[in-house]
Amino acid sequence: SNQIKVGIVGYGNLGRGVLEGIKKCPDMELVSIFTRRSPEGIAVNDKNVKVLHISEAENYKDQIDVMILCGGSATDLPEQGPQFAKMFNTVDSYDTHAKIPDYFAAVDQAAKESGKTSIISVGWDPGLFSINRLMAEAILPAGENYTFWGKGVSQGHSDAVRRVEGVKGAVQYTVPIDEAVEKVRSGVNPTLSTAEKHLRVCYVVAEEGYDQAKIEETIKTMPNYFADYITEVHFVSEEELQVNHSKLPHGGFVIRGGQTGENNKQIIEFSLTLDSNPEFTSSVLVAYARAAYRLNKEGQAGAKSVFEVAPVYLSPKSPEELRRDLL
Ligand code: NDP
Repeated sequence: SNQIKVGIVGYGNLGRGVLEGIKKCPDMELVSIFTRRSPEGIAVNDKNVKVLHISEAENYKDQIDVMILCGGSATDLPEQGPQFAKMFNTVDSYDTHAKIPDYFAAVDQAAKESGKTSIISVGWDPGLFSINRLMAEAILPAGENYTFWGKGVSQGHSDAVRRVEGVKGAVQYTVPIDEAVEKVRSGVNPTLSTAEKHLRVCYVVAEEGYDQAKIEETIKTMPNYFADYITEVHFVSEEELQVNHSKLPHGGFVIRGGQTGENNKQIIEFSLTLDSNPEFTSSVLVAYARAAYRLNKEGQAGAKSVFEVAPVYLSPKSPEELRRDLL
């Protein structure tokens, strides 16, 4: 077939989302999922989907056009990104912002040696939000960029709360503060402190016999995660956490307030409202997999970020169709 043949590396939230995403793209076909765990232990809804151990991936070099890397940014991708770029075109959602330059360099070296194309840090932030920050800044050089996240579940912050002694379960929501968002939208370009932009709201299940006041104090004073924010801690039952807080919604806004001419205010805003952060991120990965395949066919080897990938490469439609329908 002339479908783009795709592999999935790592089967967590994003891996599951990519499987769903590919189903909605008739020009793509899933060859296999690759996992570090025992393949027999991986439950996939669809019986036709092949699951193999990651060590078998190298045998699929000629049968897979693009590998979508769905590992975590903390420890999986720094290793898997460069390793897979030596064998395959790749796409990943590496999101440790401060380390993106180093990660890009490592993947770029591997991809240039193999002649493959790797698009890194794809998703919504980094990803679609990054593109919007760049466009807004290029178009309105005089102005200020603002990014707000939420309302949504932050996995990192939820994990940090779960590690507190006496905590049995927890979910942390990052919530943009309305007052700050409205100020930015009005075009006054305010200076906003960390605490003025986002609120941190925690739903916590305490172990029996633990002092809730002490748990609350430990969370609220945790350096890096909570100390610089206004943090709310709500104690709930295990059932309540399960019923009301088991989804992974997210979203946010990128806003630029700029000035042109004498003093005309120009506001650019891009926003996302997501029921499922992982399924959305995976959908972005799938569209960029198409781009990685096409760029490689054109001989554009090496690492790319979303900044270097023109929109036309993302769409299954031809450039002619796109000019006719969407321009
Ligand atoms: P998960 O923790 O669900 O999965 C990460 C890896 O862990 C998987 O690839 C899998 O590898 C392994 N794993 C998954 N479930 C289990 C399990 N039950 N037991 C043991 N191992 C397991 O992470 P997510 O998919 O939610 O997110 C991946 C990364 O995506 C995040 O680290 C984040 O940085 C990034 N991200 C980026 C976004 C963006 O906008 N750019 C947005 C959202 C996320 P294996 O199958 O090999 O064991």
